[in-house]
Amino acid sequence: MKIFVVNAGSSSLKYQLIDMDNEQVLCKGLCERIGVSGAISHKTSDGRKYEAETAMPTHSEAFEAVVYAMTQSDAKVIESFDEVSAIGHRIVQGGSIFKGSCIITPQALQDIDELGALAPLHNPAHVLAIKACIKTFGEEKPQVAVFDTSFHQTMPSKAYMFPIPYKYYEQYKVRKYGAHGTSHRFVSDRVAALEGKDKKDLKIITCHLGNGCSITAIKDGVCVDTSMGFTPLDGFMMGTRTGTLDPSAITFIAEKENLSPADLNRIFNKESGVLGVSGISNDNRDVAAAAAEGNERAALALEMQRYQIIKFIGSYAAAMNGVDAIVFTGGIGENDATLRKVVCDSLTYLGAYIDDNKNAIRGEEVKISTDDSKVNLYIIPTNEELAIARDTLALI
Ligand code: ADP
Repeated sequence: MKIFVVNAGSSSLKYQLIDMDNEQVLCKGLCERIGVSGAISHKTSDGRKYEAETAMPTHSEAFEAVVYAMTQSDAKVIESFDEVSAIGHRIVQGGSIFKGSCIITPQALQDIDELGALAPLHNPAHVLAIKACIKTFGEEKPQVAVFDTSFHQTMPSKAYMFPIPYKYYEQYKVRKYGAHGTSHRFVSDRVAALEGKDKKDLKIITCHLGNGCSITAIKDGVCVDTSMGFTPLDGFMMGTRTGTLDPSAITFIAEKENLSPADLNRIFNKESGVLGVSGISNDNRDVAAAAAEGNERAALALEMQRYQIIKFIGSYAAAMNGVDAIVFTGGIGENDATLRKVVCDSLTYLGAYIDDNKNAIRGEEVKISTDDSKVNLYIIPTNEELAIARDTLALI
């Protein structure tokens, strides 16, 4: 059985076709500049490639280009889209409505659309993609929504409420929703499997560190707290995002520079974090290279990021009254051995000890703690697409 996984943005579309008989990716690709011009780059797991510039005024034309790539190009992997059993969509915001993945019914589609108020950059694009799939593949092809937020719906109100006038929660649903839930769920499931234990018997802290970063506390098998908040801007500093800030700093800067809410959104989402502090790049590799050459702001940016991660892990160990396993995942979590070393060396008060040799291993699931460490430390490559495909299969 084959599942088509879609991650749609307003002008881009990432996809994978996964054969669920062996959970192997058959092909993956990216459509870009949807609504402007249009381009597709597609590659198969056996190394064939198809690239083309083709007009994509809407997501429908993008899906048509994907179907061509998958069924007719030199990099084809199936004879016809009829071989595809269902489509699984990554959806950024499920609000308080969606506590798990679901089949996309007309009501679900309407709810996802209305939740666009909470995720204006993402949910409207998801709705466009779902409608385009109905147009391109027909109403009979099952579509499933898998939400970044639903794993975090188990948080207690003391964790998700903000200490602001209650009316803003009542009127506008302003609260913590979290993000990266599919990744936190996937890697925490893997930890339980690797430990040979029921997830309910483990206290786990999962660190998803990529362009966006979030840390989640998982107890009794469910999320009890997470660092991202109302939007994926909260938590700790990321490539270009601030993480938590004193609100007075925001109003102060806004008054000084006469900035609008849109200006502030841009500055704190796109011009801050590691990029803002270092002035070099949002990519930890570039910043580490600059720091190695003596750039003090680059060194400071990396130091701040690691310090904030250490504090979040500590606060979640406190929130759960202990921790059995800590996981690193995402582009930084999986690849940045220095960050893992610095962070873990500050967790010895928990009885966590990192094995430097194991920490050097890359690209695979590996336990990086020493045999006598009281906390098991892991690198677990995340696979959100596979998690979406599994949910889709389960629901159909
Ligand atoms: P996204 O959040 O967009 O899915 P990724 O999880 O792929 O992003 O993470 C991308 C980030 O991973 C890059 O910006 C870079 O900072 C970091 N990264 C990738 N490889 C390395 C590496 N070898 N060392 C340090 N950082 C790395």
